[in-house]
Amino acid sequence: MKAVQYYEVGRSPHVVEVPVPEPGPGQVLLKVTAAGMCHSDISVMSWPAEEMPYELPMTLGHEGVGTVAALGPGTVGVEEGESVAVYGPWGCGVCWKCAQGKENYCLRAAELGIRPPGLGRPGAMAEYLLVDSARHLVPLHGLDPVQAAPLTDAGLTPYHAIKTSIPKLVAGSTAVVIGAGGLGHLAIQLLRAMTPSRVIAMDIADDKLSLAREVGAHEVVRSDQDAAAQVKELTDGLGAEVVLDFVGNEPTVAVAARCAAVEADINIVGVAGAPLPVGFGLLPFEVSVSSPYWGSRAELIEVLELARGGMVKAHVETFGIEETPEIYDRFREGGIRGRAVILP
Ligand code: NAD
Ligand code: ZN
Ligand code: ZN
Repeated sequence: MKAVQYYEVGRSPHVVEVPVPEPGPGQVLLKVTAAGMCHSDISVMSWPAEEMPYELPMTLGHEGVGTVAALGPGTVGVEEGESVAVYGPWGCGVCWKCAQGKENYCLRAAELGIRPPGLGRPGAMAEYLLVDSARHLVPLHGLDPVQAAPLTDAGLTPYHAIKTSIPKLVAGSTAVVIGAGGLGHLAIQLLRAMTPSRVIAMDIADDKLSLAREVGAHEVVRSDQDAAAQVKELTDGLGAEVVLDFVGNEPTVAVAARCAAVEADINIVGVAGAPLPVGFGLLPFEVSVSSPYWGSRAELIEVLELARGGMVKAHVETFGIEETPEIYDRFREGGIRGRAVILP
């Protein structure tokens, strides 16, 4: 089968032929119907060799959707031919966090070497994907696979971040979305679907700002030196009750801090890793800062339900598997509006 592999640090991924995997006990083999391209892949491919935690070559793709092609011995819970989305942040299924359904925060994943497909395990940018357990699958119930693929991460991650801040997103509140890309354009729609808050989107690119407007942002602001001042102006000097930063670099965390209201939540979702100084007098009173990771399987079910109800729609561009390496280049340069989805 064809697979898109990152094979050597510093090199572009390429398309290769690899054997179709065989499902072992409890496992599920999926024929992949759609796989989303996430900026985290770009981050992984920018790490130097000494920081690369994954074994190479590695098949990319952690946003996967497919149809059940074969079941391993003893596998129960899904049927052959069923169309399913893959819940990516696999855990042990047994520990305290997993018991709460939060496999994204599994307490034993690192110790047991459990990793998400495409982030340490062979991923979804291939004709077939091996899934460790039917527990990691959510039935699509008729949802378009191309729509569903980005929702497994670009939808689920902002959904989880927004859900934790729901108590602050009351009528009259403001939410700021920094970075209207794959995650951000879905965050705008999720905020509109889940809350009555006013949504201000920020980006550095005009085409992303226009997408932000198209998908429901009330205001768009260019992400520059004046961005925080503009948010203050739009909120009568109060700032935003919730700030979602989908970049996380020095300029954006600085903007996030400066547009936060008293008692705001700042959710840093982007993985650029810039520090945000927290301490008395450094931020408005009682601001909470968090860095959430992905979401729970239950939340994925909820996100897919929102999409089925027409409340969230990923803006996608689709490509064949052979085009994937050049699409990664285009994505890195900011040339994708919404999400790129590969159809293997
Ligand atoms: P993307 O490239 O699709 O979107 C990023 C957007 O940010 C682009 O529209 C870009 O123009 C914009 N941007 C860049 N610099 C900016 C700036 N200074 N100010 C405002 N906007 C700016 O990326 P994506 O796939 O949506 O991922 C977003 C981030 O979230 C990445 O860092 C990714 O690694 C991370 N991520 C984190 C999690 C998690 O669980 N925490 C999950 C998925 C992705
Ligand atoms: Zn991702
Ligand atoms: Zn666990």
